[in-house]
Amino acid sequence: MAYVISDDCISCGACAGECPVGCISEGDGKYVINGDECVSCGSCAGVCPVGAPAEA
Ligand code: SF4
Ligand code: SF4
Repeated sequence: MAYVISDDCISCGACAGECPVGCISEGDGKYVINGDECVSCGSCAGVCPVGAPAEA
């Protein structure tokens, strides 16, 4: 299952630099994960200050 970023995201950008496959990008009002590329490593969730990324 891929990770998904919730609306709690404050667009700090921390997660994008941690993703090993580079599948996180800045979207409209929050960051978004390309679920087709996500390998569910959990790194994004580990660095997010507001707990926005979670396994869907
Ligand atoms: Fe990237 Fe891992 Fe987060 Fe998926 S779970 S978006 S691969 S950092
Ligand atoms: Fe949004 Fe969390 Fe990623 Fe920051 S680390 S951009 S708050 S999902």
